Amino acid sequence: ENKTVTTAEHIFRSKLPDIPNIPNHLPLHTYCFEKLPEISDRPCLIVGSTGKIYSFAETHLMCRKTAAGLAKLGVRKGEVIMLLLHNCPEFVFAFMGASMIGAIATTANPYYTAAEIFKQFMSSKAKIIITQSQYVDKLRDSGENSSYPKFGEDYSVITIDDPPEKCQHFSVISESNEDEIPSWVSIDSTDPVALPFSSGTTGLPKGVVLTHKSLITSVAQQVDGENPNLFLKPEDVFLCLLPLFHIFSLNSVLLCSLRAGCAILLIQKFEIGALLELIEQHRVSVAAVVPPLVLALAKNPMVDKYDLSSIRAVLSGAAPLGKELEDALRSRVPGAVLGQGYGMTEAGPVLAMCPGFAKEPFPTKPGSCGTVVRNAQMKVVDPKTGHSLGYQKSGEICIRGDQIMKGYLNDDEATAATIDADGWLHTGDIGYVDDDDEVFIVDRLKEIIKFKGFQVPPAELEALLVSHPSIADAAVVPQKDEVAGEVPVAFVVRSSGFELTEEAVKEFIAKQVVFYKKLYKVYFVHAIPKSPSGKILRKELRAKLAAATPI
Ligand code: ATP
Ligand code: MG
Repeated sequence: ENKTVTTAEHIFRSKLPDIPNIPNHLPLHTYCFEKLPEISDRPCLIVGSTGKIYSFAETHLMCRKTAAGLAKLGVRKGEVIMLLLHNCPEFVFAFMGASMIGAIATTANPYYTAAEIFKQFMSSKAKIIITQSQYVDKLRDSGENSSYPKFGEDYSVITIDDPPEKCQHFSVISESNEDEIPSWVSIDSTDPVALPFSSGTTGLPKGVVLTHKSLITSVAQQVDGENPNLFLKPEDVFLCLLPLFHIFSLNSVLLCSLRAGCAILLIQKFEIGALLELIEQHRVSVAAVVPPLVLALAKNPMVDKYDLSSIRAVLSGAAPLGKELEDALRSRVPGAVLGQGYGMTEAGPVLAMCPGFAKEPFPTKPGSCGTVVRNAQMKVVDPKTGHSLGYQKSGEICIRGDQIMKGYLNDDEATAATIDADGWLHTGDIGYVDDDDEVFIVDRLKEIIKFKGFQVPPAELEALLVSHPSIADAAVVPQKDEVAGEVPVAFVVRSSGFELTEEAVKEFIAKQVVFYKKLYKVYFVHAIPKSPSGKILRKELRAKLAAATPI
């Protein structure tokens, strides 16, 4: 008797047709600017703070000049530059410029401490830092610490504003002769082009190697083909408020807009009034957001004072967006399609995207992340047995396709633990695919609270909490418990002017959930710690709990 059982794998695919030929043999910059002749005079970059506009032709030229300048500065193929910048045109010029000479950009948050910056700087072996003068002091001071590279000796610093001592102004590179881009650079599609770091929600941020091929594939999966999943028109103005140092904004906003030929409104800093005014003024039509921003848009009374009717699509990603919050936002922008994308830095980053944004759209349910992107395969595996599961069954989401990372930076072991021998990238996220092929994320495998073996996804309780009119924000974490193992406890921010007791919060939840999801404790706080990419930093809250006094 033959004991080998071959179970067919359940593989989920997009509802939209595959793209016959993704040109992922090209270098990224060639692909992104492929339609340049048709759109050269169209606006490409709109600088929110100054109103300055760069056309596609001007943007392309600036990228080429910057490429020549980087080469002149000594940056060679395969070498890394660090962009320590808020959203600004120089980010775009340097990122694309690096691509043009086969170099690689690693992107970091300018608010990072010197220790965080240097950790990334050293592991990526970057040669230069492009930043703003206000961040130079922290680099300079830490250079005193002998283990860090020496400022002005081991690396050069370029600032986009008035250069402090021993720094050079960005014009030194961007005013180079574009004809001096080295002609000998040949780029292979499997060469790295971007080195983003994951958000560091669950541990330390991890360096992720993305190649020309991965990024082109990912962008194509979103905006190319006969029925693009994220349909962008040249008349669109795409809001670029989320930081470009995070892959969501870098890929889905910047690279997708360049490819599709629509304008990008660059916003440096989040300030609700200024933001609403710029949306109205520039007639923003597509916006990429994260749940904390949805929270602000849904709950801030100022929103009613502005005309947001130009917005036709709002794409939320990076963290779970509950149905309740999505509904609240819908009442603020009734004319727009709202939907989610599901991304992960390692996945290039987009795994799934709402087909409500497609050229010929499909409706989706609130709370869903759409369907898996085209030209890719998704499966859901039982974390215990490794077997793939069918519709409606929760398990770990895995993805396969040309868009996923080459691997983690300098970490073969972590790479092998994440991408298996068959090429499946294991996300660490628990989710399921429903009967309509829509992907729903339940929570992160690591963050699911276990009450006597019952699973309590914090994201579900958080979504309920923020639907309460007196709650401005909330987060749920596990607290150790002798009897149950873990119990869910909440940190809650009251809306200003509202009275709210712990009992009221507990009861509000208890009415809506099964017994094991009830809250055991509620701590009132002034703010929930979040990453710039919009994720709740539960590790900080867990640390607070572990300390004697949680607040
Ligand atoms: P680290 O891996 O360093 O701990 P991180 O996973 O938060 O940080 P990112 O790559 O920025 O770093 O985020 C990817 C994760 O974000 C996904 O694995 C998933 O948990 C979450 N995520 C992204 N989009 C969504 C979404 N639409 N709904 C729910 N969760 C999402
Ligand atoms: Mg992660």
